[in-house]
Amino acid sequence: MKSIKIINTVKEMQKHSDLMIRQGKSIALIPTMGFLHEGHLSLMQEGARHADHLVVSIFVNPTQFGQGEDLEAYPKNFNRDMELCKKEGVDVIFKPDTPELYPENFQTYITLENLPNHLCGLSRPVHFKGVATIVTKLFNIVKPDIAIFGQKDFQQLAVIKQMVSDLHMPVKVIGAPIIREADGLAMSSRNTYLTPEKRSAALSLLESLNNAKQLIKDGVTDSNIIIKKATDIVKSHGDTKIDYISICDPETLENVRNIKKPVLMAMAVKVGKTRLIDNIILIP
Ligand code: AMP
Repeated sequence: MKSIKIINTVKEMQKHSDLMIRQGKSIALIPTMGFLHEGHLSLMQEGARHADHLVVSIFVNPTQFGQGEDLEAYPKNFNRDMELCKKEGVDVIFKPDTPELYPENFQTYITLENLPNHLCGLSRPVHFKGVATIVTKLFNIVKPDIAIFGQKDFQQLAVIKQMVSDLHMPVKVIGAPIIREADGLAMSSRNTYLTPEKRSAALSLLESLNNAKQLIKDGVTDSNIIIKKATDIVKSHGDTKIDYISICDPETLENVRNIKKPVLMAMAVKVGKTRLIDNIILIP
């Protein structure tokens, strides 16, 4: 197994990337918050297919967490993450601490006008400002040619693609498919919060999305009918609280009432204290 480099400072990371660029190597970046699972590993594999040098960042970004969210509780296991990265042939783990990225006088943020005003952005008003800002910072630090993001966080991927286009960032953004547990639950570091009985309630998200797929197959085109059915499925499980269930345009994220072309069905549900998201593209 080749050795892996752990870099903790911005300066060292930039210097390392400059060296790789001088050597003619292309760089792929996979931004993560750690506590890695197979979803993350699939992004690394995608990165390895596209670039010579693989950088994984591990940073629990405080600016994308709102008050009362799980910033402090967010699961961590760096040694395990490092072993997984080694196995995937990752070249560098960039793991800065918070003061390194947000020193005391930090004051510059990236915000988008429209995309954050939908789906997760409605209940997490600071989230995408934090995401856009940290991703911009990581791009400036790691200087990647490509960056891989999961379609599980569909709105995040849309925000990043828009930002890269709007600001002419020289990075190719690639979206990778949702990786699921054997029972169909979308993999998430937060799944570790779920007790066994909460886990079965957590499956109501995929059950709702699969049901929607079937309704579309049966010729249903009215979003409200599909959303109502999904709501009933989720509510039939105890201890669930729907944040949103939405059928929308995959580019603008604006709600779509009458389904005539492919739409995104996205949902966020709190199962106990754990907020879960999932989505599917519905093709009429
Ligand atoms: P996170 O560590 O949760 O911030 O996620 C880091 C990256 O992994 C993001 O681009 C996520 O969209 C992606 N990701 C998380 N879970 C999955 C999954 N189940 N399948 C594919 N990608 C995922």
